[in-house]
Amino acid sequence: MESREKKSIKGIRIRTMNYGMILAACILYVMVIFVTIRVSIGYQNLSHAVDHYIECMKAADLVTEGSDYLTMKARLYTETAELKQLQDYFTELHVTRRRDQAVEELEGHQDNPEAHHYLELALEKSNDLMQREFYAMKLTAVAMGEDMETMPQEIKELKLTKEDQQLDPEAMQDKAKDLVFGSAYQDAKALITSNISYFFSNAIETTRQNQVQSAHVLEKSMARQRIYISILFVLNLVTFVMVIMLIVKPLQIYIRCIKEDKMLEIAGAYEFKYLALTYNDIYEINAANEAMLRHKADHDPLTGVINRGGFDQLSQILKVQRIPMALLLIDVDKFKQVNDGYGHETGDLVLKKVAGLLRDNFRSNDYVVRLGGDEFAVIMVDALPEQETLIRDKVGNINRILKNPEDGLPEVSLSVGVAFSAEGFTDDLYRNTDSALYQVKEHGRCGCDFYRG
Ligand code: GH3
Ligand code: MG
Repeated sequence: MESREKKSIKGIRIRTMNYGMILAACILYVMVIFVTIRVSIGYQNLSHAVDHYIECMKAADLVTEGSDYLTMKARLYTETAELKQLQDYFTELHVTRRRDQAVEELEGHQDNPEAHHYLELALEKSNDLMQREFYAMKLTAVAMGEDMETMPQEIKELKLTKEDQQLDPEAMQDKAKDLVFGSAYQDAKALITSNISYFFSNAIETTRQNQVQSAHVLEKSMARQRIYISILFVLNLVTFVMVIMLIVKPLQIYIRCIKEDKMLEIAGAYEFKYLALTYNDIYEINAANEAMLRHKADHDPLTGVINRGGFDQLSQILKVQRIPMALLLIDVDKFKQVNDGYGHETGDLVLKKVAGLLRDNFRSNDYVVRLGGDEFAVIMVDALPEQETLIRDKVGNINRILKNPEDGLPEVSLSVGVAFSAEGFTDDLYRNTDSALYQVKEHGRCGCDFYRG
């Protein structure tokens, strides 16, 4: 059954602390994982924004390069009339296709439709300009009397105006040059450039916005990550401290108490306090049992006074202490007759009565001993030979009571031998006392005699 003390134990339970810490740690770890994923997404977005910017730059370069290449080849053909220039032009237009490829590639990414629109517009303007270039190259080809069947489709199928057909080859070439070098051409070219530059600034702005946004998300997630990790760190610290306070410290205290054979101090977590109280209950029961056993070992069960074993221990102690003392050896006179005449039980009662009278008539710090049978002893500590009369009176008083029983028990008397020692329980003290007792027995019993040396 639980004691009331145990029921009222207050303290944190290790189980509660454990579950609490595990739960808090799990929640925090999930949050850390979640925020780490967010950080990684934020980083990907940031790097994606940079990638996209690079792609835009590349696309703008390709459109510009493609367009400039076509311009250069168209101009070279009108100037030199070399067919190679014409072929290069159409290779760029149909095979290399830098401009178209740039726009097609960007179409895959729909991140920035406005910027894309400008790039498409630049391509559109470039395509418009191509009609002028075709016309200029057709004029050159006709002026040079090239075989139209060998010409690319676009040139072959293109029809010159009636007026231009009337022109002589030189005028045709002049017109051709004017078409690709003139101010109208320059203006159209400038339109392409400005669309590309709109595309550029738009892509930069979008990239910047994306970067700012991603950096903001990244920064926020990282700040959260830092907070969660800090809380986890604090949680770990709290766990360590609690383990020390609730488990390690109390264990140390308990070990110390056990080593010192003391009751346990009530410390630590609820479970430890419970254990300590249980240990203390058992400790108290054991201590009581031990005291009882010790008493049984040293005391006579019939009379309750010290037994022979206790007497031997006392004599050893007093041998060392060397204090002045007196030893009294006491024997009940003709006790056999009591047993024989009244029975053993009555004899026991007489022995108890003698022990009681010895206890009552000597000081509480004197030792009353039953050496065995009807033999008793009294060790009087700090006793001096001057106390001879006092001892004689005490014995006389006890014998008077024993010889005038009022309790229905048979009348008995005691023979007492006494010897003094100024230096504790010396080796010959017992023998001297015994010889004094012998004298009493020899001289009629019932009384006391002192050893005179
Ligand atoms: P004396 O005057 O010479 O001492 O004569 P006595 O009859 O007393 O002789 P002794 O002292 O030798 O006898 C002791 C007797 O005590 C012997 C024994 O039967 C008895 N006795 C010993 N132990 C006990 C006990 O525990 N109870 C009882 N009732 N008698 C005991
Ligand atoms: Mg006797």
